[in-house]
Amino acid sequence: MSTSPHAVEARELTKTYPGDVTALAGLSLTVRPGTVFGLLGPNGAGKSTTVKILTTLARPDSGTATVAGHDVLRHPDRVRRAIGVVAQRSGADPVATGRENLLLQGRLYGLRGAGLTSRVDDLLARFALADAAGRPAKSYSGGMQRRLDVALGLVHRPEVLFLDEPTTGLDPEARTAMWQEIGRLAGAEGLTVVLTTHYLEEADHLADRIAIVDRGRVVATGDPDRLKAELRGDAVQVELRETLGEVDARLLATAVGEFAGVREVTLEGRLLSARADDGGAAVPAVLAVLQREGARVATVTVARPSLDDVYLRHAGRRFADADAAPALAGGAR
Ligand code: ADP
Repeated sequence: MSTSPHAVEARELTKTYPGDVTALAGLSLTVRPGTVFGLLGPNGAGKSTTVKILTTLARPDSGTATVAGHDVLRHPDRVRRAIGVVAQRSGADPVATGRENLLLQGRLYGLRGAGLTSRVDDLLARFALADAAGRPAKSYSGGMQRRLDVALGLVHRPEVLFLDEPTTGLDPEARTAMWQEIGRLAGAEGLTVVLTTHYLEEADHLADRIAIVDRGRVVATGDPDRLKAELRGDAVQVELRETLGEVDARLLATAVGEFAGVREVTLEGRLLSARADDGGAAVPAVLAVLQREGARVATVTVARPSLDDVYLRHAGRRFADADAAPALAGGAR
């Protein structure tokens, strides 16, 4: 029985690996039952370590966590019965058929007889694998293998399903299909889905709530749309035809910033960026200033704030830069 109102609750988790690598530096989060929760962060942020602790595969140095109401340190066996885990690497036996894989998984969890067969048939149908059920898993496409992996994680009707980077390696079509499957999962059978991803778009698309993880901590959490709305204002970007000298660039940025409703103006190379309360209304005014100052314009774009902007605001750098940067020893900086 669950005693916590949360499907997952983590409090101040810390974890340091040998070599003084701080993987978690006080990570806290809560996940509401029946929702999709996305742990979003660049490579090395601490997502997998968090999932390892929540799925009882690793112990934190300090901090506490409950999953489906069970304490991960005091009752790891209860946690394990209440969760499904879909790792990045497939857990399916490549030689066995899709159906055999599911039957075997069910037996491992103590399911037998007609209950097991109907559960397996149901999952094969739900994941569009019924026609391929009699073929060995190794003959499946990448998307089919991923769907089988998710089905394997669900055989024993877990309360919480953990998906580690569910669409890494899938082509765009299979990724979209997987997003649809995951979207349908939450709420069905009271299931809560916790997924990790380093795709901004995936978190934005899939998750009811996200936690942006950076350097072992949650730096922002909430509904993706609400996080974006908090940034107030559109991003206006003007690409100039030529790079200006430093002085001209500064004068130009100052001139643009003098408009009411336009702020955070920067000019780097040929790219002028600003934030505006109403991007569409700001563009004519910005273009007029540029024309007056003799700066020639190549392109203009106006965009609603993205999760990348949210990440920049809270982590202080662009997501792509952080994702490309190698993780440094020495812990949270
Ligand atoms: P993510 O899943 O967000 O990519 P991880 O939780 O895998 O991040 O890693 C967080 C940090 O801990 C990284 O700096 C990573 O290199 C380090 N790390 C993860 N696992 C180990 C390990 N077994 N031994 C040493 N360092 C590790």
